[in-house]
Amino acid sequence: MQRLNLSPSLEISRIIYGMWRLDSDQNKSTNHINNKINLCLNQGITTFDQAAVYGGYSSEALFGKVIKSNSSLRNKLEIVSKCGIINPSDRYPNVSNSYYDTSREHLIESVEFSLKNLCTDYLDLLLIHRQDPLMNHFETGDALDALIESGKVKEVGVSNFRPHDYSLLQSAMKNKLVTNQIEISLAATQGFTNGDIAYHQERSTNLMAWSPLGGGSLMTDEGILGKTLSKIAEMHDVDKSAVAAAWIMAHPAKICPIIGTNNLDRISKIADAMKVKMNKELWFELYIAAHQAKKEKWRLP
Ligand code: NAP
Repeated sequence: MQRLNLSPSLEISRIIYGMWRLDSDQNKSTNHINNKINLCLNQGITTFDQAAVYGGYSSEALFGKVIKSNSSLRNKLEIVSKCGIINPSDRYPNVSNSYYDTSREHLIESVEFSLKNLCTDYLDLLLIHRQDPLMNHFETGDALDALIESGKVKEVGVSNFRPHDYSLLQSAMKNKLVTNQIEISLAATQGFTNGDIAYHQERSTNLMAWSPLGGGSLMTDEGILGKTLSKIAEMHDVDKSAVAAAWIMAHPAKICPIIGTNNLDRISKIADAMKVKMNKELWFELYIAAHQAKKEKWRLP
């Protein structure tokens, strides 16, 4: 598995395992989650994506039980978590409507909550989960800097930010935002032309791609895109999921896909992305098929 430096002190695996769907796995036992983590580690996937809000604020605790049960595990992992979403829940019993909160108070409270549930005393990376229209960038930036200074988080970044919002927050910070986690896949190609990816290339920040298999839709597609994925998968003797991930990783921005399967057999199949030689011709064949699948026009200039 390739590795990538998001900053001089934070190295992550090129493929990340995301835990958004942990809560919907039929088997949520500590033993099963431990097996899942070990399968990832065996593939060289050492970076795990979490969020305070996942599983109705319960997912980090499921992961934390595994960390607690194995004292040598924490040093082998990079843990990413996110904050900033308030949903009506047991955790927020007085809240009736969802909202975003990027205040200092919420950021600090959310990090404390994540650390306690994850049974760790630091996060390798904290992200603001979504762009908050009410963000006071001075307050949010200062709180992120303070969290780094406290040692509770090693690095900070954002998720689902457009370039102008990224730039606004960065302008109020001493530390560098190290990543933006956005949706990128053959089912979500807008970032390649709307400036989202180019912005980060210009600043030498690496992106993380959520839902790299389109949340599974690319795997069940029986149209032109599914057929093209199958054809290229056959050529390389790998699963279609490996081709979909390799397509993202072939981009010079060095984008890191965050995979979300709960199926233990599928983890190694996706990690086979490393075996796929995604040359320009194949990349464009898939890109054009993705446009055709959406009945969008795409032409070589
Ligand atoms: P994904 O890898 O695109 O999709 C995973 C889904 O695809 C699972 O339901 C999986 O089902 C299904 N799938 C995988 N291979 C399949 C196959 N061969 N055939 C049929 N279905 C298949 O990613 P994701 O789970 O949507 O998202 C990945 C991670 O990104 C999340 O865990 C989270 O960490 C992150 N994320 C972040 C944000 C954000 O706002 N920052 C938003 C969404 C997600 P099985 O479990 O049955 O394999």
